[in-house]
Amino acid sequence: MKKIIDKKVTQLKMKYHTKNPFELCENLGIEILYENLGKNINGFYQAAPRNKVIHININLDEYSRYFTCSHELGHALFHSKLNILFLEKNTHIIKNKYENEANYFSANLYLSDENLYSDKFSGMTIEQIAAQLHIPIELLKLKLK
Ligand SMILES: [Zn+2]
Repeated sequence: MKKIIDKKVTQLKMKYHTKNPFELCENLGIEILYENLGKNINGFYQAAPRNKVIHININLDEYSRYFTCSHELGHALFHSKLNILFLEKNTHIIKNKYENEANYFSANLYLSDENLYSDKFSGMTIEQIAAQLHIPIELLKLKLK
């Protein structure tokens, strides 16, 4: 599955010249809705082959919106055939195959290999690199695995 995701990321970047998940959604005809989802839910994706809609909690800051959108886009691309509601709780406790795939997509979309292995990161901890790149640490760990 990782190879399929890697290939898709390369294709998307080549075709649309962006790694921004909001721009990609627009290009792919995926609707984004901002809703008040309370305190514990970051967003969700209702998997359906047609009418793809990503729901994002309006209470999130810009940074969290970006990575929630990117994660949900992963579900939209790879899990639409499954009839599952992907609900993102902000506890990050539930980990399954599909969540890991969506995170792996999100990490790969955001990061490219050259910026991870460049000299400017040598000697830095994962925490420091994550802070430098403005990326959630779980995603960076996934990418470095
Ligand atoms: Zn998810």
